[in-house]
Amino acid sequence: MDAVTRTAVAMGSGRRDPLVGAAAYDLSRDDLGALLAGEPRYRVRQVWDGLYARVRRPEEMTDLPLALRQHLGAVLRPALRGATRRSADGGETVKWAWSLADGREVETVLMAYPDRVTACVSTQAGCAMGCGFCATGQAGFGRHLTMGEIVEQVVMAMREARPRRLSNVVFMGMGEPLANYDRTWAAVERIHGELGISARRLTLSTVGIVPGIRRLAAASLPVNLAVSLHAANDELRDRLVPINRRYPLATLAGACADYVAASGRRLSIEWALIDGTNDRPSDMVELAAFARPLGAHVNLIPLNPTPGYAVLGSSRRRVLEARAELERLGVNATVRATRGAEIDAACGQLAARVSGPPFVHPRGVR
Ligand code: SAH
Ligand code: SF4
Repeated sequence: MDAVTRTAVAMGSGRRDPLVGAAAYDLSRDDLGALLAGEPRYRVRQVWDGLYARVRRPEEMTDLPLALRQHLGAVLRPALRGATRRSADGGETVKWAWSLADGREVETVLMAYPDRVTACVSTQAGCAMGCGFCATGQAGFGRHLTMGEIVEQVVMAMREARPRRLSNVVFMGMGEPLANYDRTWAAVERIHGELGISARRLTLSTVGIVPGIRRLAAASLPVNLAVSLHAANDELRDRLVPINRRYPLATLAGACADYVAASGRRLSIEWALIDGTNDRPSDMVELAAFARPLGAHVNLIPLNPTPGYAVLGSSRRRVLEARAELERLGVNATVRATRGAEIDAACGQLAARVSGPPFVHPRGVR
């Protein structure tokens, strides 16, 4: 029995085939093989290449017979549906708010630069970490994203980037990647292995989940790690980044040091400069004392405005002074250019609807 007939029989008999209606990028190659049972063996490679090497939807796989193409289009659903798409910076920045199958929303940002094209992807709908200055944190936690939901964001960014090639992926969208470690790591492996983006061009950003940093140190692929520090004394960090109460600075520094020693990779530290809060010369002295022994590179980001946080980002002048102070203290620092602020696509501004209405899947409608 070929795949088309098999599915018709399964549906007609009321039996539920778990692979029918699955999100395409959540399937393993074996799952795809099962879905294509009865078809010639080479179809599995053809469809897999269509999904990954060519980033095509099933309906676009014109090397397949029409009936099979239509069948796959009906049974393999996209995880990311009806998007709101907005662009800024003369089209160089694009942000999507995607609806997921359960009605929740997540956002993805694509940024084109002269020397690279970067996708910023979400790993959770919302975030449980509660950093007050971050719109995602203000929204609270929805749920973890599946591997396929993460991978498909990269696929959509690749399609949009054409004719340029997507070169970098940063896991800096909504959510805390190391709080969703297994699915995020499975997505990393697939983005590297099947979508062909080198591990050195993948960056995971963490608020400082120590067990996750330790797992990452032992992981097989040399991805980059960025730690969102924002304060280098516990009293201030407890307030800005509540998870610091669980993993205080000394513990975090220990995990970072072990990570650098075990992986031989450079660490980056993210620091959102908040006016009068963590941008004083004394804050730069504390930051330098944390960063220097780790040989870490510091990324300074002027805090972007979010609805739930009244304090402002530092002035441009203060940002440049802070950078100079760090350099004088022997720490490499760069200022991250803000992209997409007018479409709420900049760091910390992603806050799509996290807890959607209960989703009732309309039978047969995708
Ligand atoms: N949860 C992870 C990754 C997502 S947040 C983390 O916290 O690292 C991505 C980056 O945006 C982090 O460095 C975070 O601290 C930063 N960020 C959050 N809110 C921001 C804001 N309002 N302005 C600038 N950066 C912000
Ligand atoms: Fe979560 Fe990162 Fe936002 Fe903190 S900054 S609430 S960890 S997404």
